[in-house]
Amino acid sequence: MTQGPTAERRAELAANRAAVLDRIAAAARSAGRDPADVTLIAVTKTFPADDVVALADIGQRDVGENRDQEAASKAAAVAAVRDAHPAVADLRWHFVGQLQRNKVASVVRYADLVHSVDRVKLVTSLDRAAAEHRDRPLDVLVQIDLAGEVPARQPSPKASIGARGGVVPADLLALAETIAGATALRLRGVMAVAPLGADPAEAFAALAGVSDRLRAEFPQAGVVSAGMSGDVEAAIAHGATHVRIGTALLGGRTALR
Ligand SMILES: *Cc1c(COP(=O)(O)O)cnc(C)c1O
Repeated sequence: MTQGPTAERRAELAANRAAVLDRIAAAARSAGRDPADVTLIAVTKTFPADDVVALADIGQRDVGENRDQEAASKAAAVAAVRDAHPAVADLRWHFVGQLQRNKVASVVRYADLVHSVDRVKLVTSLDRAAAEHRDRPLDVLVQIDLAGEVPARQPSPKASIGARGGVVPADLLALAETIAGATALRLRGVMAVAPLGADPAEAFAALAGVSDRLRAEFPQAGVVSAGMSGDVEAAIAHGATHVRIGTALLGGRTALR
């Protein structure tokens, strides 16, 4: 159960969110895009349920998590305070992390959009779980591995955050066909993380090309989930429709994930 967010934390989150929305709007305008076409996802991993409640209270609608155990308990804690904080009922939960098949029965119960679909076996498991545990289809994105699309400027000794996983672009259409054939899933687009050590602008330009090819076959799959605290401008310049922001909104994480 949550204690409820403090007024200080709420004010801090509101100020951070205003600054992030300004960055998004400026990046959209300089790309000749409508800022309203970019959805801000607050990535709340490692932060408490109270922060999610505070974000909902100040108008944030989309939140993202990358680990099922943490996300499931946070979503339950947040739902438990909906009488005092009615805005939490309108939250949309995004699952942005690597997904193991033994977690799908849990994830499909709270997630509105799963960003990290990258293999046929995961599609099969998600479809079965969504059919069993949901009353409407689950929206999914295919995670794209961009490492082969952009030259690394420096060797990257550590895997970057969330960078593991993803299909190489050559395998995207086959996976997309599998998702399109699933009864309880809806293919909505692509997601990627800029490879560590690569120029994010180059990575997101490559992603835009991949998205174009997908949309030529699947016109409803127009979501491009790209851009984090450090590279959101580059992502928006290259067509991101959903940006995933943690640090710039919530502050630094002690755990490296
Ligand atoms: C943690 C995470 C983010 C947010 O990263 P920040 O740099 O803190 O903004 C975005 N996407 C994924 C997949 C993540 O795991």
